Amino acid sequence: MKTGEEYLQRLYEMKPNVIIDGKNVKRDDPRLQAVAGVMALTLDKVNDPEFEELLKVENPEFGTINRFTNIHQSIDDLLKKQELTRKICRLTGGCVFRCMGIDAMNALSIITHRAETMTGRPYNQRFKKYLKYWQENDIVGSCAQTDVKGNRALRPHEQADPDLYLRVIEHRDDGIVVRGAKNHITAAAVAEEIIVLPTRMLTPEEDEYAVAFAVPGDWDGVKLVTRASSHKREYYSCPSGEFGDVENFIIFDDAFIPNDRVFLGGLEGEHAFGGWTALLFALYHRHSYTGCKPASTEIITGFSALVSEYSGIEDKKHVQSKLADLISVAELVYAAGIAAAHTATRDESGTMIPDIVFCNVGRKHAGKNYYHELEILADLAGGLPATLPHEKDFYDETIGPLLQKYIKRKEDVPAEDIYKLYRTLSDMLCSSIGGVTAVAGLHGGGSPQMEDVAILKGYDLELRKKIAKYLAGICDE
Ligand SMILES: Cc1cc2nc3c(=O)[nH]c(=O)nc-3n(C[C@H](O)[C@H](O)[C@H](O)COP(=O)(O)OP(=O)(O)OC[C@H]3O[C@@H](n4cnc5c(N)ncnc54)[C@H](O)[C@@H]3O)c2cc1C
Repeated sequence: MKTGEEYLQRLYEMKPNVIIDGKNVKRDDPRLQAVAGVMALTLDKVNDPEFEELLKVENPEFGTINRFTNIHQSIDDLLKKQELTRKICRLTGGCVFRCMGIDAMNALSIITHRAETMTGRPYNQRFKKYLKYWQENDIVGSCAQTDVKGNRALRPHEQADPDLYLRVIEHRDDGIVVRGAKNHITAAAVAEEIIVLPTRMLTPEEDEYAVAFAVPGDWDGVKLVTRASSHKREYYSCPSGEFGDVENFIIFDDAFIPNDRVFLGGLEGEHAFGGWTALLFALYHRHSYTGCKPASTEIITGFSALVSEYSGIEDKKHVQSKLADLISVAELVYAAGIAAAHTATRDESGTMIPDIVFCNVGRKHAGKNYYHELEILADLAGGLPATLPHEKDFYDETIGPLLQKYIKRKEDVPAEDIYKLYRTLSDMLCSSIGGVTAVAGLHGGGSPQMEDVAILKGYDLELRKKIAKYLAGICDE
């Protein structure tokens, strides 16, 4: 299995198609290392006894593989992925970064099978070959699903500029040429491979948008405009100071994709597969959220409890009630993911599909509550996260001792611990990356409205109406 070091070496050799502040940078740029480090962690943790059982999967063809390259074959696979995601997020302070790639691969395992069965085109054969490459090489992937979308009220084929959704502009014997842009693509600048999927349901006029493929991150014609955030400490080191985020606006500037990497080619009649791919990726991704969001919420819970303890208010009634609120969200979302796994069904391709309603209600509950969770944290922390003096002043020889005297709360808690706590609270509540995490908590995996659509689609409302009729005496059965 690949080590973190091997992954980083390979990453640093990639062509510099990552653009930050107008300049092409190599992938060893310091601004990318926080997220590259998390990717490396997911590779290295296979040898940690605490993670080994969750991370290692026995594959009949290739022996032991990393779970982030696994296609779910059982309920246990889904449960372990959820638990693994939660556990790793506790270490990274938020995102595991590897779920997008493997969620996309699981969706493709189903769609390529369906498309090959129905059209006779060899999409599943290509996918299986590509999956072999993934599993043998322990590939770190990302998923580019979200198109830039132009005018939201218009369908892809109705846009003034047809490129506002990524599409095939040329079919060649040896592949396709694609044009368009995907945005908000997490971690793509530190991924070895980018999986590209359609973003929505498509109509018969929109076959050219039903395109799914994979490219190495530094493929010709692919440009990544990258926003990187981190919050390094200057005067001391701590795990949360190493956390960061890397988001990407990816432009596919008439990129040629060879046939063996095309899993849905935008051919006549393929629009329906495009829509199913979008739904399936969203489903797997929302199941992943039932692992990472409980971790985010428990991190907020931990900080809420700690700041209350340091301030001497932990046992106050309103504080206890707010902590109970946080715990209820984390564990209900986690429970929804467990239920989704236990009621999963096996697709004809052999891949397990988690239950659509449980996945979506879990993700919706997490998304709806995220800003409320931050509100609780901000409430219990008071105003200091927003006004905390800079590290340089806190550690300054002259003014530092005075700040250390006046920052004190409970007598037995050293001033430096209070400063360190508030420095991280400031990151969570007041920094650029805190803002990114909050928006991700709401929109990542789809806006709340999209979850409602999926919930209503998956739920048997007619059955509930029948129950109402029976109870009201409108019918006898
Ligand atoms: C930090 C972060 C990380 C992300 N990571 C990834 C990733 O790795 N890969 C990926 O593919 N995507 C990723 N996403 C994208 C995410 O899935 C989208 O942000 C989400 O689907 C919303 O799309 P949008 O941002 O274009 O907002 P919009 O679609 O513009 O939504 C804004 C509002 O408009 C409403 N709206 C939009 N269209 C319509 C309509 N036709 N009718 C009525 N209302 C409408 C929505 O319901 C919402 O209320 C990420 C997002 C964030 C914030």
